[in-house]
Amino acid sequence: MLLAPGASAPPAPRAAAVAPAARSAPAARPVLGVGSRGAAVRRVQSLLNGRAYPVPVTGYYGTVTARQVRRFQAANGIRVTGKVGPLTWPKLLGPLGGQAAAAPAPASPAPAPPGPGAARVVYLTFDDGPTPAWTPRVLELLARYRAQATFFVVGGNAAAHPELVRQAYAAGHGVGNHTWTHRRLTRLGGGALEAEVGATSAAIHRATGAPVRCLRPPYATVDAASAARARALGLRLVMWDVDSGDWRRPGTGVIADRILGRVRSGDVVLLHDGGGDRSQTVAALQQVLASLSARGFRFSPLCR
Ligand SMILES: [Zn+2]
Repeated sequence: MLLAPGASAPPAPRAAAVAPAARSAPAARPVLGVGSRGAAVRRVQSLLNGRAYPVPVTGYYGTVTARQVRRFQAANGIRVTGKVGPLTWPKLLGPLGGQAAAAPAPASPAPAPPGPGAARVVYLTFDDGPTPAWTPRVLELLARYRAQATFFVVGGNAAAHPELVRQAYAAGHGVGNHTWTHRRLTRLGGGALEAEVGATSAAIHRATGAPVRCLRPPYATVDAASAARARALGLRLVMWDVDSGDWRRPGTGVIADRILGRVRSGDVVLLHDGGGDRSQTVAALQQVLASLSARGFRFSPLCR
């Protein structure tokens, strides 16, 4: 990860993961509570994140999930039980349910639900660029595999290299906001969040001519207040399901194995095209694209 000015060491990105807010799938809606596990819990956790009730996507329904469910229920006029049942599911899923009703962010197309015969899709995302050293190499690989991805750009980099932003967008990739100087949203008070995020969206818009639809919070740090401020700027929060850990440079094989071993259809994968030497990322990306293509995955953009 790119370091914010003055930061001494890169904090480990949280394992929190947020699926695209609009993800939907005709899955079962079991009653869930503390102690529940599995795919339905993952889904609830992703939906909570999409509604700006941050919670790690672990597949285990613990006290953190229960607390966020209670907050969601209270905000939506549902009896506060901490369990997800027949009243809470529709509010979590519904496009106009709960806080989303007030969100000006345009709805993104829902990824195709995985199912028998359905195309398998993965959403590759690249943070902290664009950089002249690495972004063109990422773009070249994506083009070779006819893959689309999403770039969450740092505003300062986008302003310095608008041609890379333009090139990515013109190639069909999504371009999202990652703040101007890679700041924690939760520490940006007094209009600083609006300035960091607004200037970045403006730089992207100048390069692409298209509206900016989403924001990835640096360090995955967000709370209800900063999430609401981002939504007020018309931005949807997008985090990830699979963290490649590439920014630590653990080795090409480790990066590729982490992704290939964990990724499931519909997942958002975190990678980086900035913030340091990304040669391992580029090498791992080639392996990931080759392997997932052979397994029938397609690669789609977010935020367009
Ligand atoms: Zn970052």
